[in-house]
Amino acid sequence: DDASDRSETAGTTVCPLCAVGCHLTPADGAGAGGRARGVAGPANPNGRLCAKGVNAFESVDDPDRLTRPLVREDGALVPTDWTTALDRAADGLAAVADARDPDALAFFGAPHCSNEENYLLQKLARTVGSNTVDNRARLCHDNAAEALADRFGYPASTFGMDELVDSDLVLVVGANPAVQQPVAFNAFVRGGDADVVHVDPRANETTRAADVHLAPRPGTDALFFHAVAAELIERDAVDASFVAERTTGFDGYRESLSDVDAVRAAAATDVPAGDVRDLSERIAAADGVAVIAGTGVEADGGATARALCDLLCLTGDVGRTGAGFALFRGLNNEQGATDVGCRPDELPGHADLTDPAARERVADVWGADVPETPGLNEKEALAAFGESIHGALVVGENPAISKRDADWTAARLDALDTLVVVDVYETETTAHADVVLPAAVGVEKTGTVTNLDRRVQALAAVADPPGDARPDFETLCALGRRLMGDGFEYDGPREAFAELRAVSPIHADVTVGERWGDDYRERFATPDGRAAFAPVETDVEVDADGLALVVGSRAGGFGAADATADELLHLNPADADALGLADGDAVVVRGDGASVETVLTVEDGVRRGVAYLHADVADPLVRAGTASVEVAAA
Ligand code: SF4
Repeated sequence: DDASDRSETAGTTVCPLCAVGCHLTPADGAGAGGRARGVAGPANPNGRLCAKGVNAFESVDDPDRLTRPLVREDGALVPTDWTTALDRAADGLAAVADARDPDALAFFGAPHCSNEENYLLQKLARTVGSNTVDNRARLCHDNAAEALADRFGYPASTFGMDELVDSDLVLVVGANPAVQQPVAFNAFVRGGDADVVHVDPRANETTRAADVHLAPRPGTDALFFHAVAAELIERDAVDASFVAERTTGFDGYRESLSDVDAVRAAAATDVPAGDVRDLSERIAAADGVAVIAGTGVEADGGATARALCDLLCLTGDVGRTGAGFALFRGLNNEQGATDVGCRPDELPGHADLTDPAARERVADVWGADVPETPGLNEKEALAAFGESIHGALVVGENPAISKRDADWTAARLDALDTLVVVDVYETETTAHADVVLPAAVGVEKTGTVTNLDRRVQALAAVADPPGDARPDFETLCALGRRLMGDGFEYDGPREAFAELRAVSPIHADVTVGERWGDDYRERFATPDGRAAFAPVETDVEVDADGLALVVGSRAGGFGAADATADELLHLNPADADALGLADGDAVVVRGDGASVETVLTVEDGVRRGVAYLHADVADPLVRAGTASVEVAAA
């Protein structure tokens, strides 16, 4: 059952704790357990790590790690050997496919699994006959990624983060890179000469390093940037040759901005007209403008991300050094997991699943047909457990806690005929599994991951997995051979990466260590090679009375085993007073039928009208689509 490729047991690997992708190695050279030492790499050129990264090996020696495969016997999970567990897992999944239909199976990958593992998972799903394959990373930045794909052709950062040192103006929007991506922020933003403008309803660590902080009323960020764009057009600061040569649709876009100006926008956005004019002057004066966007731009369906793309196109600030749109993702291989096709509507390389030529290209390499109909996304699949989905293979995910309601989710998991979970720890989800397979963590495996600026970087196994735990790559090969026979015989991740290059156009020419898609400079990857402006919506309804839910970014780590400490509700002192609440009070936050209980912290840096929660705490509210919340004593 081994497709082992553990030859690289010494050396430098990639930090598993965020999407910056710093290089590191065990400080003591011995492998397991100790602290990590940074090794200079493209993302950490001075070799420094952040405080998180120094502890990158913490999970290696964790006594809570799963070390044996488990199978359910008489209601309880009991240890067994790999062959028994894999047979049981494959038999359970095959029984669902045979008795019902292959697309009654769901497959969940994960942003901390490697490119090759996520690639193999979606290959297994599709060759079995199901497009219901997804990973939760997709949810974190989906709207901004879609805006980037629509505008420039790829759902990814348009430039390398190292180019931020050449930027004149860095516009950080809805992100806190000083904490979330600290090495990149320190090396490339603070290491350069750029003015930093932070746009966020909550002042945070990034604000302290910024020259300007602007806090538009939640829900009005897009209008705020439209007002800046209108001001740039008004002062004739448009890069006319860029607009003429590299974009389409400018006239319609300009026309849609005709009733927007700084003064009128101020009433809705609560940003003084002078601040809008100041930002437009800074943008007009800057030679290179770079946007860093985080999860804060997700709340409005992508309108803010599109408005930022418009700004960059107006001033020709995309496709040249030090300029462009950087999507500051949080989780280690968030970019890569979707790049390799671990989503229900795309094949590897972000190819449209409904395109017959794309399916044929993949089928030719795989020697197996690809089902035509897009599958369910993770949220839809979970809701369909026990209805149209009857078996699931969950790799590195913990849907039992990452979904809206614990009892509801437990009932959904129990409604499956079979549930196979591959994970590093026992979790709320493994508690419902029929088979649990113990996994390796990132520093224990080979393969590649793709960081937030599209750089594909090699992992090295600098520690050994505990007990019988093994890399998911081996587990997926073994399951693939049992379920499909052919197509899952690999010498190791390298061979799978070579296959990925054959099926995925974006990976075709990329070598490990390089970025895919670095052809933005000449021509955007859109059908006509241009970025399309479109008319914008400038009518914004503002709920001046309610508390707007603002959700902070999710950090890296391994779900329940590495929960973040930031679990508090943050309110402005005036809002807390008005509610009769004080710092430290237990509170319940409700909206759209969902609620979470937490503790209040009162903070001057949060703008009035904002209820700020960390993503891991806010999950039930986010999943219920909550925009405004009520807060009361618990
Ligand atoms: Fe790891 Fe991210 Fe810190 Fe770099 S910035 S050391 S990748 S957690």
